[in-house]
Amino acid sequence: MDIQAFKNIWVVIETANGSVKNVDLELINQGKFLAESSGEKVVAIVIGQNVDEAVKTVIAYGADEVIVIEGENYQVYNTDSYSNAVVKLAEKFQPSVLMMGSTNNGRDLLPRVAARLQVGSAADCTAVEVGEDGSIAWTRPIYGGNLLSTVTFTETRPQIGTVRAGSYGKGQPDSGRTAEVIKEVIQTHADQIRTKVLEIIKSVGQGIKLEEAEVVVAGGRGLGSAENVSLMTELADVLGGAVGGTRACIDAGWMAPQLQIGQSGKRISPKLYIGCGISGAIQHIGGITSSDIIVAINKDPDAPIFEIADYGVVGDLFEVVPILIEEIKKVKAR
Ligand SMILES: Cc1cc2nc3c(=O)[nH]c(=O)nc-3n(C[C@H](O)[C@H](O)[C@H](O)COP(=O)(O)OP(=O)(O)OC[C@H]3O[C@@H](n4cnc5c(N)ncnc54)[C@H](O)[C@@H]3O)c2cc1C
Repeated sequence: MDIQAFKNIWVVIETANGSVKNVDLELINQGKFLAESSGEKVVAIVIGQNVDEAVKTVIAYGADEVIVIEGENYQVYNTDSYSNAVVKLAEKFQPSVLMMGSTNNGRDLLPRVAARLQVGSAADCTAVEVGEDGSIAWTRPIYGGNLLSTVTFTETRPQIGTVRAGSYGKGQPDSGRTAEVIKEVIQTHADQIRTKVLEIIKSVGQGIKLEEAEVVVAGGRGLGSAENVSLMTELADVLGGAVGGTRACIDAGWMAPQLQIGQSGKRISPKLYIGCGISGAIQHIGGITSSDIIVAINKDPDAPIFEIADYGVVGDLFEVVPILIEEIKKVKAR
């Protein structure tokens, strides 16, 4: 395989009701950094129907080129049609890197594409950097997050991997940016599609997704019991945000596992993170450092979280949080 023939950094975009997922915008931003070092382009792959808004968004966030595939069979994500489309595109354009968010769809799609192209793939990475030999160094936690391994593909292309949301920040959008948009027609015949989406049922009580939220209220062991998680929910509700927690809360069964923030949980990048009763262990901090503003409420003035917090309140969360909720309500009522 002549690996020099493979060029450009591809990000496969996922859309939800027309809007682009945050993780894709984060990958475009990091993709630009990777592309700069080799003088390549960041190319967004947008598959779906009525994707004009998504195309504008990815260009505003830095895509140098967009390849669009539209059609009825691409209206909602489908393993067979999407993998057929991405494989055909990759065979035609020969990208050097093919990456996607480590979402349910990303985890479904890219390993399948890798198998069809007969190359390897790195799953669920937390970093994508340029390695020593110029190949991409994919970093991924292993053994339950106790070790980090670095994977490189030195002899095959494209280099394929999924990356966790929150591993990088998004760039600043520029609505004046322009980029070439290439429309490709790839037919996936109905008889090639072995599964049908009959209905999409929203999960109950999930609210705003942690990885998409602009405000995250996180609770720690300081909450003391499962009942007190409602205080976090109340604060998140007045701020229009999502609730998450430390592993201590998840291990205690106070919160669902998908709400864990940190090294072995979700990495988040909200505009505002408020941590309540959280000490600031390195494994938790690893998941919040992309937040724009970090607020910590802890009764211990020496809690390590204050070292990285932009604003800190030394106090009992059961006194501070209710006051905060009341004050926010007053401001909103003005
Ligand atoms: C391999 C590995 C992976 C891990 N991955 C993760 C991960 O992804 N995410 C994660 O979060 N952790 C992770 N951990 C666990 C991590 O090391 C910590 O144990 C955990 O983050 C601690 O959670 P905590 O801050 O809620 O609890 P603690 O460290 O016990 O801190 C509780 C804090 O609450 C404060 N407090 C108590 N009562 C109050 C009150 N009434 N008002 C205000 N403050 C109060 C205390 O002063 C204290 O600082 C991992 C550990 C390992 C070994």
